[in-house]
Amino acid sequence: MTEKVDLIVKGGPLLTFDEEDRRFTRGIVCIKDGKIAAVGDEFEIGSDYEADRTIDTEGDLIMPGLINGHTHAAMSLLRGYADDLPLSTWLFEHIIPAETKLMGGQMVYWGTLVSVAEMLRAGITTCADAYFFASAAARAFKDSGMRAVAAQGVMDGPKPQWADDDARKEVLRSFFAEHPSRPGALVTPALFVHAPYTACPETYRQAKAMCDENGALLFTHLAESEDEAGEITKRYGTTPVRLLAREGILSDTFVGVHAVWVQPEEIEILAQYGASVVHCPNSNAKLGNGLAPVTAMLGAGIAVGLGTDGPASNNRQDLFYEMDFCAKGHKLVTRDPARMDARTVLKMALYLGAEALGLEETAGSLAPGMAADMIVLDLAGPHAAPLFSYESHLVYSARGGDVKTTIVGGRVVYHDREILSFDEAGALARASEIIKKL
Ligand SMILES: [Zn+2]
Repeated sequence: MTEKVDLIVKGGPLLTFDEEDRRFTRGIVCIKDGKIAAVGDEFEIGSDYEADRTIDTEGDLIMPGLINGHTHAAMSLLRGYADDLPLSTWLFEHIIPAETKLMGGQMVYWGTLVSVAEMLRAGITTCADAYFFASAAARAFKDSGMRAVAAQGVMDGPKPQWADDDARKEVLRSFFAEHPSRPGALVTPALFVHAPYTACPETYRQAKAMCDENGALLFTHLAESEDEAGEITKRYGTTPVRLLAREGILSDTFVGVHAVWVQPEEIEILAQYGASVVHCPNSNAKLGNGLAPVTAMLGAGIAVGLGTDGPASNNRQDLFYEMDFCAKGHKLVTRDPARMDARTVLKMALYLGAEALGLEETAGSLAPGMAADMIVLDLAGPHAAPLFSYESHLVYSARGGDVKTTIVGGRVVYHDREILSFDEAGALARASEIIKKL
C-alpha cells in the first residue's frame, strides 16, 4: 500500500538540519497539506509514497529554506538611495524624509512584494519584517505565499500612519484584529518598536502590553551604534539593555535586533530573560556600527538568528552573502580563523533563527510535522566543485542565485528561475511608478 501525498521532492542529496542532523545521499521529502509527511532515503521509503506532482532535483541539494531574522521589506524602494553614511545621518537626513514622501499602504504593499521576489529567489522562505503600514506588508506576504512575522512599526510622534499617540494605539489594535496570531499560519503578527532613541519607555510599555495580550513578539533595534548607547545613557542614566530591563520590556518574547554595543553583563541579562537576538553583520558593517559579540551570546544560550536588515542598509537580501560575511567578519575582527565556523553560521540562518522568531516547531529544519519550507540548490556550477563539505559550500561558496526551487508550506513559489506565486514584473513596474515621487 502506498500513501498518497501532494508533492514529492527527491533525486539529490538531502540535509535535514533536524535534531539528529540526518543526511541522505539520495533523499526524499514527501509533503501533504503543506507539511512534511516523511523524510528519508529515497531507496528506503520512496516506494511507500506516491504524489500528484514530483520534483526530481537531478542531483541538486535539498535543504530547509533560510530564515531572514530581520528586514524592512518595503524599503526595497530605497535601495541605494543613501549609502556610505553614519546611522544617524543616513536615517534622519535621508531615509526618514524620503519615507515621509513615499509611505503609505501602496508603497508598503508593492515594496514588500519586490523584496519577497528577491528573498524567494535567494532561498529565504521566512522573514521577520518590521515596518509601518504592516497590514499592507502582511497582505503582500499572504498574496505571495511567503512565511513572515510581520511586525507593525512603532515610534513616538506623528508619522505618515498616525497623527498622534491615540491614533497610533488604534492602528496597533486594528492590526492585531485584522491579523490574529494562529500557530502554523503563514503570517504571524508582531510589533516592532523602532529603537530606544525614537520611542520612550511608556511607548515600549504600551507595545509590550499589546504584544502580551495578543501572544505576539516584540522586536526592537537594540544598542545598534555607539552613538545610540551614549545618547540613551545621557537621557536615562543607563544603557539600552538595562533601560529595557528596568522598564519590564525584556522577556522570552523579546527580540533585540543588532545588540552590537552590549556589555558582557548585559548578555547575561538578555539570557536570563530568555530574550532572542538577531545579528545583521552586513548592515552593521555598512553603517560602521561594529560587530555584535555573537559568540558570547551563543555561549550564554541566547537564540541568535541572522538577518539582512532592510535593503536600504545592506543592500542585498541574500542570506548566502550574509552567512559568508558573518563567518568572515568575526574572524577578521578577532583575528581568529576558528571563530564563527560555517556550521554555527548555518544554524543561525536555519533553526536558531526559527527559534528566535518562535517558529521552531514550524521552520528551520526538515522533519515530519514541520511546515514544508524548503529549497533546492544547484550544485552543477563550477563554484560547487569539488564538494568536500556542504557546510563549507553553503557558507563560503554558494549564493542566492544558485537556488532553483523554493517551496513554502508545500507550495512551489519559485521554480526554474520563475516566481510562480505572483506577477513579479508587475510588482517591479508598480514599485518604479511609486518611486517617481522622489
Ligand atoms: Zn532594522
